[in-house]
Amino acid sequence: MDMIPQVHASLGEQELAAVAEVFASGWPAGQGPRGKALEAELAQRYGVGGAVAVSNCGAALHLALLALGVRPGDEVIVADYTFPAPAHAVRYVDAVPVFADVRADTGTVDPQAVADLIGPRTVGVIAVDTVGLPADYAELKSIADRHGLFVVEDAACAVGATYQGREAGALAPVACLSFHGRKGATSGEGGALLTEDPALAADARIRSSFGIGSIFDQAQVVGLPIPVFTEIGFNYKLSDIAAAILQVQIGRIDELLGRRRAVAARYAELLADEELITLPHVPQDRTHAWQSYMVTLDPGVDRAAVAADLRAQGVGCGHGTWASHLQPVYETKQTCPVSADLFERNLAIPMHAELSMNQVERVAEVLRSALKTHARPHGA
Ligand SMILES: *Cc1c(COP(=O)(O)O)cnc(C)c1O
Repeated sequence: MDMIPQVHASLGEQELAAVAEVFASGWPAGQGPRGKALEAELAQRYGVGGAVAVSNCGAALHLALLALGVRPGDEVIVADYTFPAPAHAVRYVDAVPVFADVRADTGTVDPQAVADLIGPRTVGVIAVDTVGLPADYAELKSIADRHGLFVVEDAACAVGATYQGREAGALAPVACLSFHGRKGATSGEGGALLTEDPALAADARIRSSFGIGSIFDQAQVVGLPIPVFTEIGFNYKLSDIAAAILQVQIGRIDELLGRRRAVAARYAELLADEELITLPHVPQDRTHAWQSYMVTLDPGVDRAAVAADLRAQGVGCGHGTWASHLQPVYETKQTCPVSADLFERNLAIPMHAELSMNQVERVAEVLRSALKTHARPHGA
């Protein structure tokens, strides 16, 4: 049976050649020549004052909150329907995540929900470009400006997406990217912090490196100046091996995203008249990076049974993403009914750049028949 995986990274000969160059250079660690070149490329691509290459997006979020001066006990409003890295990052700095519900049609944070949650301890908002679809930054910015709050864009899934003509990753003063193996551009693990503020970037870079400057740079200096530690930083550096892979991947974004777009367009054609699911909605003013393709099942469909059928027939699938507030670790009494509903009814079907159109057709066929088998009759 031809297995159709839900996700599959597009890494090949070009990336291998880039890794071979790093091996030959003798500097595989972080903040070396490849890391610096990657940071320069990211700053240029996103038109930002600073880009910091880091080990993952969770680290980027942590560094962002530290650089923004979030203090213990502060409240940070986070989009609820997401991989819960934003709420985790808030907890890393002993602050309090406040969960904001999302729009039913896009799964992105509902600006009205954000406005309703602002209180005396609120210092900022982390919006998420949900599985690659940008949030409502115009509305979020106007709310944040009115209340003096920061906005961080979690663009982990959104490399290549746009909002009102601008690149995801440049939609808020600070943004975090992920280059994890399940995202659109990857080095296995990896991330970046992007910001219009060079001082904030410098702060994040020092904290990503134990609180001192680049060791590679030190070795190039004439004489023997001994660097000093100025922060209790972390080791969140991205290796030059990963940076070299990412330079290739960033150069391939248009190609890889083009293939994901074609898959999404074909799913939309094949499933348009299927009454038991709602297809992803992309508002006119933005484009999707299609990190995942999530369909919302009719309340009368048994999702677990559909998923089991798909997997039994070699079609990978998953629940999509999480309702953060329902994760026991946060011990919150908040409710986010829209997010909870999407968490219960969404199904992620295969989406990556290596899918053939034959495979896409087979997924649609298997999904349609599983839906029919596992739909409870209306009113029952
Ligand atoms: C994947 C993901 C992350 C975590 O990224 P890592 O690079 O694995 O740390 C953070 N936020 C969102 C929205 C994600 O989807």
